[in-house]
Amino acid sequence: MRVVTLAGGTGAAKLLRGLATCVTPRELTVIGNTGDDTEVWGLHISPDLDTVTYALAGLLDVERGWGLTAETFNCLAAMAAHGADTWFNLGDRDLATHLMRTRALAERHPLSTVTARLATDHGVASRILPMSDDPVRTMIRTPGGRLTFQEYFVREKALVEVLGVDYDGAPCARPAPGVVEAIRTADVVIVCPSNPVTSIGPILAVPGIVEALSATAAPVVGVSPIVGGAAVSGPAGALMRVRGLTVSPLGVAEAYAPWLRRLLIDSRDRACVGDLARVGVEAEVAEIVMTSRAHEATLARRVLDAALARRAT
Ligand code: GDP
Repeated sequence: MRVVTLAGGTGAAKLLRGLATCVTPRELTVIGNTGDDTEVWGLHISPDLDTVTYALAGLLDVERGWGLTAETFNCLAAMAAHGADTWFNLGDRDLATHLMRTRALAERHPLSTVTARLATDHGVASRILPMSDDPVRTMIRTPGGRLTFQEYFVREKALVEVLGVDYDGAPCARPAPGVVEAIRTADVVIVCPSNPVTSIGPILAVPGIVEALSATAAPVVGVSPIVGGAAVSGPAGALMRVRGLTVSPLGVAEAYAPWLRRLLIDSRDRACVGDLARVGVEAEVAEIVMTSRAHEATLARRVLDAALARRAT
């Protein structure tokens, strides 16, 4: 079974770990967000691709939701002594990933090739594809000017007012090799519980990806990142409001219209079922807040069952 996922960072990592218990690694393809890629100390950082890679490698620091487990930060401390910016935390072993990526990109290897190589180096057999090899940058418009996503999220702790969100470079970006084909030939497409505006939004902004999602014969199933009127974590709620979306599973469905077919929602959002049906999305009520490995696996199974049940109809 070819399972293709659209993924951001921390929320996606949990569901992907669950999916890895349900299908063989080679059956799983991840299309990852690169809109929040950034440069730190001259290094190219791809936070969401790294989170997904580390999660599937079993190396993600689960408490933090980013970076490697049992990490040390000696280089960060040394950089602070040099007066360098240290608001973006880079761990010592994590740096090896960024050094390898930066060197390969400087040698003109595309990000997709570099990402595949890094996955292999970490022992991940699933396919991890960046949404595009071309640079797309999510920019957050604030009263004080535009910020990169990392400046907004990590440096400013998402506390500044947001006026709008842009995906710089998206109109000219092409899907990375394999992205469109993966969606078109998938047996199941899963939209992970990720920020609809800054994790899934940039993926959808790459011309050709929405068209592939609309054209695929595979059922497209999502897991709501919004539970009981708020994001499980992070700034998704505030960013959805800026986009004119309600902070509810209905807002999530509207962000993924018209190609999303089914959405797993929390029992607290049961009242949304009728509204979702009216926008053409079948709701399935489940326990969608993942609090343990066992829970991740159970939810992943539910998502696959929901997709396959639909395929059978
Ligand atoms: P980030 O925003 O850069 O951290 O990356 P993500 O797109 O992965 O953002 C996390 C998103 O996942 C947020 O919108 C959360 O509400 C959502 N999320 C995190 N954990 C869970 C979970 O256990 N269940 C569900 N349904 N959503 C989650």
